[in-house]
Amino acid sequence: MLQNAYDVTIIGGGPVGMYAAFYAGLRNLKVKIIDALPELGGKLKAMYPEKYIYDIPGFEKIKANDLVKQLAKQMNNLSEKITLVLNERVDYVRRRDDDQILEICTEQACHYTKTVLITAGKGAFQPRTLGLANEKKFLNIHYYVKDIEQFRDKRVAIFGGGDSAVDWANMLTDVAKKVTIVHRRNTFRAHEQSIKQMMDSTVNVLTPFYAQDLSGKDGFVSEIIVQNSETKISKALEIDEVIVLYGFLSALGPIENWDLTLEEHSLLVDSNQQTNILGVYAAGDSCIYPGKVKMITCGFGEAVVSINSIYRYLNPTLRNIPVYSSALKKN
Ligand SMILES: Cc1cc2nc3c(=O)[nH]c(=O)nc-3n(C[C@H](O)[C@H](O)[C@H](O)COP(=O)(O)OP(=O)(O)OC[C@H]3O[C@@H](n4cnc5c(N)ncnc54)[C@H](O)[C@@H]3O)c2cc1C
Repeated sequence: MLQNAYDVTIIGGGPVGMYAAFYAGLRNLKVKIIDALPELGGKLKAMYPEKYIYDIPGFEKIKANDLVKQLAKQMNNLSEKITLVLNERVDYVRRRDDDQILEICTEQACHYTKTVLITAGKGAFQPRTLGLANEKKFLNIHYYVKDIEQFRDKRVAIFGGGDSAVDWANMLTDVAKKVTIVHRRNTFRAHEQSIKQMMDSTVNVLTPFYAQDLSGKDGFVSEIIVQNSETKISKALEIDEVIVLYGFLSALGPIENWDLTLEEHSLLVDSNQQTNILGVYAAGDSCIYPGKVKMITCGFGEAVVSINSIYRYLNPTLRNIPVYSSALKKN
């Protein structure tokens, strides 16, 4: 078991977890990164992929999506040392009886590791739903868009009024048979240029409407009743696919029950980023200490401190000289 255990398992593949995985690889640690979502990037990918970030050192501005791409590229340079596990939400971490190995379990599997770094932000994201009682039984209601081709020649209803909803409405006009966007307010909260593009396109725009009822059979919704919140007039939409882009809810959830010391729903760490449990560290939006600032660049710094602390923990007899990457890499 000890031979197969990873040196460090990182829970959460947001920007901080991604950078920590790279840095752990750079320090020759065997690292695994686990995320509940189908792709890496955390909040940047799920909440604001098309927004520019202006406070990343060395970049005048960079789109959140592009920062994630750069972090992935940097990680991929050390891909032989980094194992990636997606679509698995960690439910608990516990120390095994032999006391040397930590067991991290998800619904699908258990993973074994000598140390854990929690970079889970504010917890696993769950998409906001339409809030209708029978919603869960339909298979053609989507909360993420993974493959645009699945909407080819279909009648698609998109629910939402933010950047994701407007961007997908625009992108699907060339692919789908018909695109309808349904938004509960009169105005969209998206990039001005994207809204104009959508308004000038064939997209059927329904505002201020919300979903009132769903019907269909064999697990596929085929009709949605939407109601105008001002006039109270309802109409039926015949559809093949539904995309709900109402954003995400996040909560530390199971992490709050791991006997870790919490402050303001965050994990209290010391100056080594160590939690109250030996071998368990935290960085990024998950952690708190006096003066903590919840920003990407601070999270990157905490990732470096965490991995160096983990390195020292795993190699107590080695002299821990800070390793400069400029001294490590030959090209
Ligand atoms: C709209 C918006 C704009 C922002 N703009 C800026 C900005 O301009 N500059 C800036 O510095 N910061 C900005 N931030 C804050 C920044 O996004 C966060 O500080 C950053 O995302 C924190 O990164 P993280 O890796 O710690 O956590 P996150 O990005 O939250 O990633 C956490 C990851 O952990 C995963 N996870 C959680 N629980 C589990 C579990 N139990 N099992 C498996 N996986 C799990 C989640 O799925 C997620 O992928 C902004 C935030 C928002 C919402």
